[in-house]
Amino acid sequence: MSDINVSLSYTSLVSAIQKARISEELLLGEPLGKYTTWRVGGLADLFIEAKSIDSIQKLVALAVEHSVPHFVLGGGSNVLIGDKGFRGLVIKNGYCEKSIIGDSAGNDNEQIEYQALHGRWQDHVTGVFRHTAVHFHYYSDETDPNFNAEQIFLRVSSGYSMASLIREMLDMGITGMEKFARIPGTLGGWIYNNTHGHTQFMGDFIMEVRSMTLDGKIIIRQWNELDFGYDQSIFHQNNEVILDSTIRMFKGNAQVARKISIEVMKNKLLRQPSNSGGCVFHNVTAEEKEQNQFESDAVGYIVDKKLGWLGTNKVGGAWISSKHGNFIETDGTATAQDILSVMDAIRKECKSRFNVELREEIFRVGEF
Ligand SMILES: Cc1cc2nc3c(=O)[nH]c(=O)nc-3n(C[C@H](O)[C@H](O)[C@H](O)COP(=O)(O)OP(=O)(O)OC[C@H]3O[C@@H](n4cnc5c(N)ncnc54)[C@H](O)[C@@H]3O)c2cc1C
Repeated sequence: MSDINVSLSYTSLVSAIQKARISEELLLGEPLGKYTTWRVGGLADLFIEAKSIDSIQKLVALAVEHSVPHFVLGGGSNVLIGDKGFRGLVIKNGYCEKSIIGDSAGNDNEQIEYQALHGRWQDHVTGVFRHTAVHFHYYSDETDPNFNAEQIFLRVSSGYSMASLIREMLDMGITGMEKFARIPGTLGGWIYNNTHGHTQFMGDFIMEVRSMTLDGKIIIRQWNELDFGYDQSIFHQNNEVILDSTIRMFKGNAQVARKISIEVMKNKLLRQPSNSGGCVFHNVTAEEKEQNQFESDAVGYIVDKKLGWLGTNKVGGAWISSKHGNFIETDGTATAQDILSVMDAIRKECKSRFNVELREEIFRVGEF
């Protein structure tokens, strides 16, 4: 820990963290920008990168016990952290473990009994219902690399980088998430927001999730108890920390899956800048789309085709991407206020021209 004086309001928490023998270093006044894809954010009063489930559990419990606000940061690819930083403890999730724990051929390494989940999932793009029972294959297209493939069950910790997981699994011949290639973030963040790529959602791969309540209780929820929806999960409502999850993938055609992931990556490289925070606004509602006779509900389409604003509205170090109208790019000098000003310009124009109320998709964190 550095020698900077600890503010009085944190002294009891800091000494409790020291007594709890948490091996990771507690940092004071840590700049948060380097932990986000936007490279934007002020200082965290207290910051620690927790590398084990034990550290995460202890830190959350201690922060609650000492009434110090805390925030769990994943890959920082969907948050806008204020220029004045975060008053309290930021726990960066660095808990990265994975193991293969079973397969649908019955080789269950941990003798886990999987219940069949008789849930149905409606694809928001095609409207088609898919079954999510464990032993049911919803890949109906024979050219799909996962068609009729054996299922593989993995336990993955919430701090695992999803890009790494997808790549490492493909190297082992395990498929299923190839269409999610090049989406940043950790498993915890992906579950929190039910990350989506093409017609698939993270929730489609989830068997169960283990989380911790603020009073330290561990809860295990099956897929059908997680309230997955578009950009939604039960974790938006309950302040729990996602610890790890059992997910299913496939022993599919890895060659075809790899080709798909390369295509997806190439396409994303052309259409999405990485020095951004992902889509800043949610899609517009069906009524707003209808009223304005928009061809798409995507805000990227509105900013591009209806406003003609690609690559414009530069404020300080932030501007609307020239690749995607719902992405705001930054050049390394941007502040959170710059980004908010660009967002405000889009919001006001959409309100006055189309009577559309844009809703933010990114999460604001800390003080602005
Ligand atoms: C270039 C780019 C492309 C993107 N493309 C897509 C895309 O195609 N589809 C898509 O859906 N999204 C996309 N995103 C958005 C983003 O990648 C996802 O929303 C991702 O799920 C965020 O994960 P994260 O770990 O970075 O979360 P963070 O940004 O760190 O956090 C987001 C929220 O999740 C919460 N959270 C994180 N971990 C936990 C945990 N363990 N327990 C409880 N809460 C937690 C945080 O507290 C915060 O509220 C893109 C972003 C970028 C920058």
